[in-house]
Amino acid sequence: MMKIDIAEAAGALGREIPFVFRTTADALEAAGADFSFEGPVTAEGSLVYTGVCYRVQGTVRAVKHFACDRCLADCRQEQAHEFTEEYRSEDNGAEESPEAEIFTGDSIDIEALVRDTLLSSQSLSKLCRPDCKGLCPVCGKDLNEGDCGCDRFVPDPRLAALQQLVKED
Ligand SMILES: [Zn+2]
Ligand SMILES: [Zn+2]
Repeated sequence: MMKIDIAEAAGALGREIPFVFRTTADALEAAGADFSFEGPVTAEGSLVYTGVCYRVQGTVRAVKHFACDRCLADCRQEQAHEFTEEYRSEDNGAEESPEAEIFTGDSIDIEALVRDTLLSSQSLSKLCRPDCKGLCPVCGKDLNEGDCGCDRFVPDPRLAALQQLVKED
């Protein structure tokens, strides 16, 4: 649970009330099929009452652990992703903020927001660095460490088809 008590914000219109949560990926149930998050996951930000709704803004920070798609290196990547969401109580702000999430009681639980932010921010490709050269398909050497001298030329079938078209023209 990441519950923010709204009392302080409710009594101070427009003032940003800070919050900090420290949890783990396990507690947050934030895991991917082929990656994980190590150590603490933190969510830090502020809550402000606008007079109509409560606006939550913050940043979730985590360390992602994964194997590079190209060279299979064991990687750790520090990440920071921003989130913002508006919440309103059931009986207030329906017209002014129809998009706002509804909360009940005297606190707002941002756990789902933090989890969704973290998971939806993950790119499909996982690389140790954007220009990772990968492994040599012939000898398996990590090409980031230097070339191995293998002949790795593989004709691109799409290019071959294109050349065929040009010839027939
Ligand atoms: Zn790599
Ligand atoms: Zn090679």
